[in-house]
Amino acid sequence: MSSYDPNNIFAKILRGEIPCGKVYEDDHVLAFKDINPQAPVHILVIPKGEYVSISDFGAKASAEEIKAFFDAVSKIAEEQGLSGEGFRTITNAGLNGGQEVPHFHLHILGGRRLGPMLTKLAA
Ligand code: AMP
Repeated sequence: MSSYDPNNIFAKILRGEIPCGKVYEDDHVLAFKDINPQAPVHILVIPKGEYVSISDFGAKASAEEIKAFFDAVSKIAEEQGLSGEGFRTITNAGLNGGQEVPHFHLHILGGRRLGPMLTKLAA
């Protein structure tokens, strides 16, 4: 796994160097609107710690950070009115996963029927 790049765009958001549409923050977690939404609600949830991917987060984050992260996901889904009708979470990891920003993030998508999980791509 590659090492953490402190110049990635989410690190800049965490340092306040770039603005974001914040929807949630606590000691361990920040969540903000995706700049290129793929659904009526599209939020990115990120840990404040420096983790490249979900694997890195799972391997290195403390139990407190991991609990805070998933508590935040539940709270945000509730606050955004997604709990009743449902929603989707996605985390892309690495090259095959199509991860663009190398700071672990979870997408929360909802507000409409999202259809099949993956679009079939030509081989
Ligand atoms: P991924 O492909 O899982 O790494 O997703 C990265 C996501 O970050 C994409 O959905 C982008 O639209 C989103 N994104 C990139 N830059 C920003 C930004 N400055 N503010 C909010 N979302 C961003």
